Amino acid sequence: MLETMSFRKILIILLLFVYLVEIQAQDSTKQRNQLTARDFNRERSYDVQHYIIRTEFDRQNKTVFGDTTVILKPLRDGFSTVELDAAELNYEFVGIVDGKKLTYTQLGEKLTVFLDKAYSKDEAISLRFVYSCRPKKGVYFVDGARQGDGQVLWPDQIWTQNEPEEAHYWFPSYDFPDDKATSEQFITVEPEEVAIANGELVEIIQQANGKKTFHYKMNVPHSVYLISFVIGKYSKIEDKYRNIPLGFYVYPGKEPIVPKAFGKTKDMMRIFEELTGIEYPFNKYDQTMVARFRFGGMENITATTLADTEVLAAEFMPELVEDLVSHELAHSWFGNLVTCRNWAELWLNEAFASYMEAAYREKMYGREEYTKKIENDAREYFAYEIINKRKHGLFNHLAQPDDSIFNPIPYKKGSALIHTLREEIGDEAFWKSVNIYLKRHSFGNVETTDLKNAMEEASGKKLDWFFDQWVYKAGYPQIQIKPTFYPRSKRLTITFQQTQPIEPLVPAAFVLPMEIHISFPDGEERLEKVMIRKRVQTVSFKFDKAVQEVGFDKNMKLPLVVMNISPLKISEERSTKRRKR
Ligand SMILES: [Zn+2]
Repeated sequence: MLETMSFRKILIILLLFVYLVEIQAQDSTKQRNQLTARDFNRERSYDVQHYIIRTEFDRQNKTVFGDTTVILKPLRDGFSTVELDAAELNYEFVGIVDGKKLTYTQLGEKLTVFLDKAYSKDEAISLRFVYSCRPKKGVYFVDGARQGDGQVLWPDQIWTQNEPEEAHYWFPSYDFPDDKATSEQFITVEPEEVAIANGELVEIIQQANGKKTFHYKMNVPHSVYLISFVIGKYSKIEDKYRNIPLGFYVYPGKEPIVPKAFGKTKDMMRIFEELTGIEYPFNKYDQTMVARFRFGGMENITATTLADTEVLAAEFMPELVEDLVSHELAHSWFGNLVTCRNWAELWLNEAFASYMEAAYREKMYGREEYTKKIENDAREYFAYEIINKRKHGLFNHLAQPDDSIFNPIPYKKGSALIHTLREEIGDEAFWKSVNIYLKRHSFGNVETTDLKNAMEEASGKKLDWFFDQWVYKAGYPQIQIKPTFYPRSKRLTITFQQTQPIEPLVPAAFVLPMEIHISFPDGEERLEKVMIRKRVQTVSFKFDKAVQEVGFDKNMKLPLVVMNISPLKISEERSTKRRKR
């Protein structure tokens, strides 16, 4: 309990506090406005409806022969030029799908097509591009490798990696996450190869020259960065979750790894459906291993790509692979169904996918495994910040469309923060708001405010302060905690001093709901809660007996706080008389 203070003292402190909060609020609004002033969204003049992408390959020359149709609708009347993203494509034909050629200009990575007339709003336009390219990004040709005894380590393969913005290196597109369209691919491969891509495999067309064309159709709208293919000699193991076909593509001879690496896929799907209250949103789920992948995995829609090194590690470290598999699967809800509107908001994809690794562990193996994961995420984030010069919040005001956005902040800090949010509003409100958030924005795009609104709606709490300090601001709190017990007055006084360096974007004082665990010699334990709001704050409790031990945040509600706790000090109080001398 809090010690009673005189009313006047309370009033003065209260007034001072209101004043400080006001200053702080003004400051943070100003800072936030500056941050969001740089617009991370793109302006759009059209809405792509559908992509039809045909690809063939010259493996030796690492060349892609592409034939892409983009069907789009203008957002305004008088629409006479189309600007698409396209890099280093050599065009054979640019025009209307019926054969009418159109003039175009290529400036940097922007392709501008001059239409044959001014189109009106919502009038569908089908543009066709026939081209070849030797992509330096987006499509990767990997030569196979053999062991000394001739055994194949990995087969020849060609695969794509579009996120964040590499799609336009192999097909003209609106290469930004905020426009969703359906897609279709016709991928022509060597006779002994297979192609794995997004959505339903409609048919395999046998070509006269022995080659095969795999026709895939993704019939629900998605962002361009989620379009993918993998080509190679693969062995496919099949399974089913409810009526959803599951495919596990591994190198021939590596089939025994499938149960070890992917054996829990169905449990994960069930658990994620239960937690989110949303059924797996697509009509299939494939997982394919590839060589020389620069990430652990990529959540290409319905067709996750995974580094072979990670998948094969399941032989020795199944738990690590389990996290990766659940992470990529979780993106089906967080990232693929509901997608960040721009790259500054990437954390909305990655924090949730990382958090769901822990949520899966909790359901499958219990709270301890969950806690371990969250704690580890927080530690990895702290370790990263030590050498990080580019401070940014979860909302990344430094976001560029390159690999620099995939750093531990959106993932590790993000995951620990989602946990903090769940602790702040409680389990029931948290999962309810996750459901609201996913339902409301299904097949759409989101920004942080959309998540905040859902969390506020389900919990009835105002969360501006929470999102402001944890999402828009950077860094993390470091607190020096000094508890002192005064045996004569049986008072426990605790000083909390926030010691994080004063830096732009890092709050000088985080607001922290702190749990204090107090134990007494007779075995009694009490839980006190205080709200820390100032850089230096002292709280005091009066008891009717001696305090034996004091602990802080034992239930790990604040994993993103580094606490340096001094041992409980027993103060030798002097009597008033002695002090006078
Ligand atoms: Zn991810």
